[in-house]
Amino acid sequence: MPPIKTRLFTPGPVEIPVRVLRAMAVPQPHHRTEGFRETLKEVTSQLARLHGTQGEVFVLAASGSGAMEATVANLMAPREAALVVIAGKFGERWAEILKGFGVPFEALDVEWGHAVDPNRVAERLQARPELRAVFATHSETSTGSLHDARALARLCREQGRLLALDAITSVGVHELPQDEWGVDVVVCGSQKGLMVPPGLATVSLSPSARERIEGERLPRYYFDLRRYRKGIPTGDTPFTPPIPLVLALQEALAMIFDEGLPAVYERHRQVALATRAGARGMGLELFPRDPSHAVTVIRPPAGIDASAIIQHLRREHGMVVAGGQDRVKGEIVRIGHMGQYDAADIMSLMGALEDTLAALGHSVKPGAATAAAQAQLYPEPAPAPAERA
Ligand SMILES: *Cc1c(COP(=O)(O)O)cnc(C)c1O
Repeated sequence: MPPIKTRLFTPGPVEIPVRVLRAMAVPQPHHRTEGFRETLKEVTSQLARLHGTQGEVFVLAASGSGAMEATVANLMAPREAALVVIAGKFGERWAEILKGFGVPFEALDVEWGHAVDPNRVAERLQARPELRAVFATHSETSTGSLHDARALARLCREQGRLLALDAITSVGVHELPQDEWGVDVVVCGSQKGLMVPPGLATVSLSPSARERIEGERLPRYYFDLRRYRKGIPTGDTPFTPPIPLVLALQEALAMIFDEGLPAVYERHRQVALATRAGARGMGLELFPRDPSHAVTVIRPPAGIDASAIIQHLRREHGMVVAGGQDRVKGEIVRIGHMGQYDAADIMSLMGALEDTLAALGHSVKPGAATAAAQAQLYPEPAPAPAERA
């Protein structure tokens, strides 16, 4: 049966919930009005609540990379050096931005699919006191791995270094209490766990990093956070904000807090565990050693090309997943489940994956993946007391 709907299981942009779509479908308020200022103030304070910070959250009109660039430009002084943890494409992005700004940096390379060993970071910082800041990734979307943000934050604090964390696919997915863990800067984008279309990005500064954006820093104009700082208390922006996206983010944050943050994290965990169980159930190997709950990354069975799986899922099932980039192109399939995804989504995806692999010649017992996912999602109930006797 040909599909009549498209279902996104992408590592971003993700499916937009109906509530969020509806929030954008209104006559556009002007941004220099009391109503919109109130909206922006609410968005900013709810973002701070989501991040667990008493600091400041800056909302920028940009994709996630723009917020990464804003972080580098505003936090690094000329000639200051940094350490970059590179365990995938997004770790590489930090390095490219630093290179673009002429920041001297040292790269700590980690095998793709692995999380960095925090001891390696600690040792490197000890040996190189001139590395003033660490740029790292929490959930590395290109490999599906999760890094230990808490340990990285602890060791950076102990050694008096600044930690800037790309949390673009972990905010709203994994716990990341910024102030409690001591992460100085957290970067996020709208089109991943926040369930909003692309175009908004945020930089969250903990109170410890507040002063770091003042003084002589790298060249900055549009992303000069000092311009944004002035307007935060009143809901004003230095430039025209993408108004519909701000309305969308307001609604998405309301959805997250209506469900409750602990419930949101637990749902992502369940969905991720079920996806992994289903994949293993049909004999597939997971790519990451330390998997993130944002995206499940699998290796195709021997002899089957990742792109054939992606194509079949799209054409026959209307399901959109992603392939690998750069050095893992053709070698992996990335299945996103950030945002509004639940058990039913995963069950239908597993059915479609089984059909796809069978069609491509992989011998898979019908029901192997769905049964494994189902066992994870709906564990057998404990026997009733009468039956136990
Ligand atoms: C999506 C993503 C980004 C930013 O990509 P943009 O296309 O600029 O939004 C950065 N880091 C990670 C880990 C991501 O998943």
